[in-house]
Amino acid sequence: MATGAASANLEDVPSLDLMSELLRRMKCSSKPDKRLILIGPPGSGKGTQSPIIKDEYCLCHLATGDMLRAAVAAKTPLGVKAKEAMDKGELVSDDLVVGIIDEALQKPSCQKGFILDGFPRTVVQAQKLDEMLEKKGAKVDKVLNFAVDDLILEERITGRWIHPASGRSYHTKFAPPKVPGVDDVTGEPLIQRKDDTAAVLKSRLEAFHKQTEPVIDYYSKKSIVANLHAEKPPKEVTAEVQKVLS
Ligand code: ADP
Ligand code: AMP
Repeated sequence: MATGAASANLEDVPSLDLMSELLRRMKCSSKPDKRLILIGPPGSGKGTQSPIIKDEYCLCHLATGDMLRAAVAAKTPLGVKAKEAMDKGELVSDDLVVGIIDEALQKPSCQKGFILDGFPRTVVQAQKLDEMLEKKGAKVDKVLNFAVDDLILEERITGRWIHPASGRSYHTKFAPPKVPGVDDVTGEPLIQRKDDTAAVLKSRLEAFHKQTEPVIDYYSKKSIVANLHAEKPPKEVTAEVQKVLS
């Protein structure tokens, strides 16, 4: 039954789309597997660089912030539990996020590896991730540290506009959409995140320095951290990422 339904759906897919998906899969089959973590304070550019790395290496992009915001919007039990901490700019509990990552990593799109964006954010989360991967005989290959001074982050955060469905990030000054307030790809409206204010940024940065910076030390001991100059313009950061991953 399921096979019949799938082939009926495939018959409805335009030939051009089928061809480009086939070409994408052929290109992907020659790419090496990669398991990457992107660490950096809010606004450091992780979400901007992720789609570029994802396309280049055929990885899945798992951003715990995006997943949690979708759960909050859908008012799922997980979203209800997470909302209060997120509104205040505090971290949600380790158990909640470890659970969503564990489930998401099973997806077929993560077969060639993954980009974890915004996870792990505590040493406990990093240890749990290592345990999860060990069970599959895998390990993290590289941690990209988006190093940037706190002082430039307020302007980045307060000027950010996002397309919630895809997680695409824009900026009124640094990365404006073609039409103000509208996603370049879908034409759908962009929104500003509720926690993208100067006041909430303070708590988010506090959480980053206290709880997430130790994660960088944790991976430094494994010699897999690459430091990026994340204050540079987006294209220069992309070039640094490409150099580190090649
Ligand atoms: P993160 O995912 O790390 O929170 P984003 O990638 O969403 O950060 O970037 C935060 C904001 O800064 C966005 O509005 C984005 O367009 C902009 N931005 C991202 N990288 C740069 C950069 N290198 N220089 C200037 N602005 C940037
Ligand atoms: P982000 O989109 O990465 O800026 O995350 C937005 C908010 O989601 C954070 O301020 C936290 O409240 C929550 N969050 C996202 N990822 C994690 C995580 N790995 N651990 C705990 N809380 C998280």
